Amino acid sequence: MSFEIRDRDLLARIGRLETKTGVIETPLLLPVINPAIQPIPPKTIQKTFAHPALITNAYILNKHFKDKSVKKGVHHLLDFNGVIMTDSGAYQTLVYGDIETTPKEIVKYQEQINTDIATILDLPTGWNASKNHATYTVEETLKRAKELTTIKTRQDILWVGPVQGGQHLDLITHSAKEMGKLPFQIYALGSPTPVMEQYLFDTLVDMILTAKKSLPPEKPLHLFGAGHPFMFTLAVALGCDLFDSAAYALYAREDRYMTERGTLRLNELEYFPCSCPVCTRNDPDKVKAMEKIERQEILAQHNLFVSFSELKRIKQAIIEGRLWEHLELRAHGHPALLQGVKKLHKYKAYLEKQSPITKKTGFLFFSSLGLIRPEVVRYRRRLFQRYSPPRNAEILVLLPQTRMKPFHKSREHRRALKEILRKIDAKIAKVHICTYAAPFGIIPPELDEVYPLSQHEVTTPLDAETVTSVAREVTRYITKMNYKRIVLLQNPEMWKGKIATACRRACKRKKIQLNIYTRAPG
Ligand SMILES: [Zn+2]
Repeated sequence: MSFEIRDRDLLARIGRLETKTGVIETPLLLPVINPAIQPIPPKTIQKTFAHPALITNAYILNKHFKDKSVKKGVHHLLDFNGVIMTDSGAYQTLVYGDIETTPKEIVKYQEQINTDIATILDLPTGWNASKNHATYTVEETLKRAKELTTIKTRQDILWVGPVQGGQHLDLITHSAKEMGKLPFQIYALGSPTPVMEQYLFDTLVDMILTAKKSLPPEKPLHLFGAGHPFMFTLAVALGCDLFDSAAYALYAREDRYMTERGTLRLNELEYFPCSCPVCTRNDPDKVKAMEKIERQEILAQHNLFVSFSELKRIKQAIIEGRLWEHLELRAHGHPALLQGVKKLHKYKAYLEKQSPITKKTGFLFFSSLGLIRPEVVRYRRRLFQRYSPPRNAEILVLLPQTRMKPFHKSREHRRALKEILRKIDAKIAKVHICTYAAPFGIIPPELDEVYPLSQHEVTTPLDAETVTSVAREVTRYITKMNYKRIVLLQNPEMWKGKIATACRRACKRKKIQLNIYTRAPG
């Protein structure tokens, strides 16, 4: 049984996970099936939605259908011949305190009902747990994880090893490291549900990336309880491969209508902003007038459609190398999500290290949020680690970015250069003509056709943070390199004098000559 990664972007991947019932493609959402109360029968999930997998709760199955489920097997019991994952009842432990089963019993039971993906009975840390209690849950979960090898008898079931620690990041690191040493086929981040319910997406970023950094990268990661499509992009971008959603049904019960940007209430809707089959056949007034049961089914179906569609969009974005753009789009659907994406600033070096280097498409830079993206971070790092200017270059001429790329071939640059050379009276052999450009910083002509320096589009006017960031790169470049003189052609319209200030600062520090000329406006 293997997990094969086919495409990557940021930390996201499209993968193929082999189970004994069939191969599933990730990122994948597993709808939660509660056999006791279920608005959409499992068979419909397979037939109407052509969906290959679901998740159900082994603890609840054991409690309500013990003998029947063992005799029939979970596929037969649920009338679903796709891939079935079972959760262990850990969440029930969190909600109801102690539950009537043991870690050993729940392992054996999952083997007996012939599940495809099984979860050990971990001990969720929960939210707001004290350090002491959190440590206990981490150690107890690890103890149970280690016992699995002595209890299980089958080799054809994939086992999930949950990482605990709650909001204590050092405990998450410890939990992930130790769990990663054990032979699980899938890892999971346990109990982030309250974090997501309270929209603490910046905390969620910390939790996921802390776990991710210490887990084996070649194994899939399940994010428990992440059921809303508006946050899938963030979770997938951070490297989560599997999700489970009870939300589609829970929301439907409360007349809540999911969209990829957030949640709407049925009674506030005049139009369905969706083209799924149920929304095409119905309008909000018609659905409002329905009996509760029927209404709930309609809404649950829509909620599933919208969830599955968003995952398809995300997968397409991964293939196109445009996941960051999709992430920015979704981030602007809610301030809390944007806060989560801004948190990535803290992890930008890690993100850069893990992201693919080459892409089929150029990228779109909208605002300073894009300064976090791996292409920008990578260019800036490599320029200082790997690049040195030509040996005879004594005078650095800095020209502003042009619309046409590559910059050094643009008519504006050629014209500006002619003028500058006349003014400074220098030999061309000693001159090094570079461009200062958002979002990268300084771009030498030798590099400006290398990806992505000519393969990106930038929104102008630039925002203040982007201008400041590029100016900082200019200071850094002049300070590090050994030019004897700097000549700046400034474009005050776009750069508000910030590049000139950066040059002045660096030249003063290096005690070298600086000439500033101003580009004619327009
Ligand atoms: Zn719909």
